[in-house]
Amino acid sequence: MSEVLNVEEIFASKVFTLGKMKERLPRNVYKEVKRVMEQGGELSKGTADVVAKAMKDWAVENGATHYTHWFQPLTGITAEKHDSFVTHPDEEGRMLMEFSGKELIKGEPDASSFPSGGLRATFEARGYTVWDITSPAFLKEDATGVILCIPTAFCSYKGEALDKKTPLLRSMEAISEQAIRIVRLFGNTGATKVVASVGPEQEYFLVDREKYLQRKDLIFAGRTLFGAPAPKGQELEDHYFGTIRERIGSYMKDLNVELWKLGVTAKTQHNEVAPAQHELAPIYETANIAVDHNQLVMETMKKVAGRHGMTCLLHEKPFAGVNGSGKHNNWSLATDNGVNLLDPGETPNENVQFLLVLACILKAVDTHADLLRQSASDVGNDHRLGANEAPPAIISVFLGEQLEDVVKQLVETGMADHSIQGGKLQTGVSTLPDTDKDATDRNRTSPFAFTGNKFEFRMVGSSDSIASPNTTLNAIVAEAFCEAADELEKVDPEDFEVAVHDLIKKYLTEHQRIIFNGNGYSDEWVKEAARRGLPNIKSMVEASGTLTTDKAIKLFERFGIFTKAELESREEILYETYSKTINIEALTMIDMAKKQYIPAVIQYTRDLADTVLAVKEAGADASVQSAVLSEVSAKLAEAKKALTVLEEKLAKAASMEDQKELAFFFKDEVFTAMEALRTPIDELEMLVDKKVWPVPSYGDLIFEV
Ligand code: ADP
Ligand code: MG
Repeated sequence: MSEVLNVEEIFASKVFTLGKMKERLPRNVYKEVKRVMEQGGELSKGTADVVAKAMKDWAVENGATHYTHWFQPLTGITAEKHDSFVTHPDEEGRMLMEFSGKELIKGEPDASSFPSGGLRATFEARGYTVWDITSPAFLKEDATGVILCIPTAFCSYKGEALDKKTPLLRSMEAISEQAIRIVRLFGNTGATKVVASVGPEQEYFLVDREKYLQRKDLIFAGRTLFGAPAPKGQELEDHYFGTIRERIGSYMKDLNVELWKLGVTAKTQHNEVAPAQHELAPIYETANIAVDHNQLVMETMKKVAGRHGMTCLLHEKPFAGVNGSGKHNNWSLATDNGVNLLDPGETPNENVQFLLVLACILKAVDTHADLLRQSASDVGNDHRLGANEAPPAIISVFLGEQLEDVVKQLVETGMADHSIQGGKLQTGVSTLPDTDKDATDRNRTSPFAFTGNKFEFRMVGSSDSIASPNTTLNAIVAEAFCEAADELEKVDPEDFEVAVHDLIKKYLTEHQRIIFNGNGYSDEWVKEAARRGLPNIKSMVEASGTLTTDKAIKLFERFGIFTKAELESREEILYETYSKTINIEALTMIDMAKKQYIPAVIQYTRDLADTVLAVKEAGADASVQSAVLSEVSAKLAEAKKALTVLEEKLAKAASMEDQKELAFFFKDEVFTAMEALRTPIDELEMLVDKKVWPVPSYGDLIFEV
């Protein structure tokens, strides 16, 4: 028997939870902390000192020696710089570990090397980390020891956001403020705020570490840059939801335990569509905590994989020809007195508040489809979006039969007098119970799907932070709520019902083009979307410019989420990130081609040539050997030519200065040259003796984990 896990006991054992604060803090201090968490404001210096001491004592009791302000710079991952609690010893040489309120609340890492897109020149490098009191501190344990991690936001000297968290927090305030205006219109006086909730489903691949270490492309780029397809792919669909193998199972078990300790509610786990691909989903929580936790999930996935002799790949497309990985970002809005604004109830046609919220969301998504698309773009995701495995690069909304019918009634007559009901599920087997079924079937191909009481934004890439998608979602919906509230607050109470119906009808009529319930992966949809005038933004580079249109600047400045300068800096960073990433990939390809593939193939042609001669000398027919030799030599020549072209392109790139132009050059020219090099090498892999091939194949990597 394996040892029994006490999940209730280990859950959040490494988190400085509210419960622990309640135990350890004087009552008035605890109350002040709770008030600031819920309503905002600042802790007094005295209170901050008391909290810091309690936090430090708890951390030290659990083995901590250092603390860090844990933040999320624009690299998309997290950053930390450790400081020990050690202080100056007294004259007797005794040292007392200390941690002050000041150190808890504000830090000044010399973090000038993070991308700032020009917001921060190195000569004016001050940047501050500021405690996000709403996200709990936790302990991270690894070879460095135990570190107290304090979630923080990261800003410049002038208060400009240098991270992903600051705008997210700003967007959460914006949507709360505007959503409250909506619920007030419907008589909800009890709610004091509206919280954006997020539950991200995280996909990942696991590969054997020994094999991983033999592939420079996986090491440097996180994805394979070469590789012929294995004889078997995902066509039998035998991996999806399949029985979890022992090695993977024991990984998942460890991963869950580590996450539970960190207070992450790891809930669902299963095998995904591609071989070696898996998924983990936690229970949803407040957006900023969900963002922090998703970072911890990604980090823990990698760490635990190492312990099991495996490597976790979070790249959106580690292997060509099999499904890539994404992250379904489930999002909803709930008041602090327990009303989910996206819950339609049994009869959505009667739920006017829900219909208004829905109409606003459709309006927001239609108006800012470009921004939503941008928020889900990163370099790796360019391989997925629009590639018949993930939602297309076109934003549309799936509502399902029931809501689509209600929308239709509203658009046609201004009234909706009925809702389609789910009915009974009949299996035709007398021993199986007839159960109620949902009013709506699912649609797996939609990028933005209504799934019962939430929207599921399915475009997000697996390695990306979910901060940007949620910031954008909150911002665009805040704007729509604000505009609706501006209209409706003016109306006399006795005219309210008519006015709200008119407004819902108006929004739905104007924005119904964004609704699409069909197959999002089909070519017909691409044509239909073009006919409807919906944007089809094919790449990250093309999407980056959407951040600085007049429309975007107006939206983000209006709600204090981004300034124009912040948006411009982010656009600049996206171009830089794209170019740098493709440059690394191209250099890795050149390295592998020159030092691994081409020498291996040269050796192989030499062996073949020797064979041809020997066979001929022996008086036998060497035509097969000769034919293989010719074919291999021809492909080798093709590879060499493509390699030269790629090198020339990189040389040209090195001479270019404008970041936007450079990014487009990498996308259009360098990337194409990379594909041209890959093709002959992959073909050679199919021709050359496996024994001489210098790296593990796709089959080795994804079928033999
Ligand atoms: P589905 O099967 O429809 O994708 P699941 O129940 O598996 O739904 O949930 C997927 C994710 O959505 C989980 O992380 C879950 O916690 C989250 N989720 C469920 N309800 C909500 C909600 N109201 N708001 C945000 N996320 C939610
Ligand atoms: Mg889902």
